[in-house]
Amino acid sequence: MLTRTVFDSFAIATCGAVRSQSFAACDSELSDAALREINAHLHECAACRARLGADALFLRVVRAAAVASETAPHSLRERVALALHMRTTENAPA
Ligand SMILES: [Zn+2]
Repeated sequence: MLTRTVFDSFAIATCGAVRSQSFAACDSELSDAALREINAHLHECAACRARLGADALFLRVVRAAAVASETAPHSLRERVALALHMRTTENAPA
């Protein structure tokens, strides 16, 4: 959502618009134009800067946790291997 003044055609993103795009901005998923509007807003709005900073930190922590637990437990790997083996032998030509 954008607001435009009657005095110019420059679009200024609202706090709500910026916050709704926070994770997309952190993941570099926005267009250059959208990113420019958000950056212009962040230049003026300390609350949104703090919010985007917190969201970026949250994403880093979640990703670090996901990488740290990337290896499945041994028991799960055994069950998956057994299920794959059973499926393979069931579908094997006689
Ligand atoms: Zn704001």
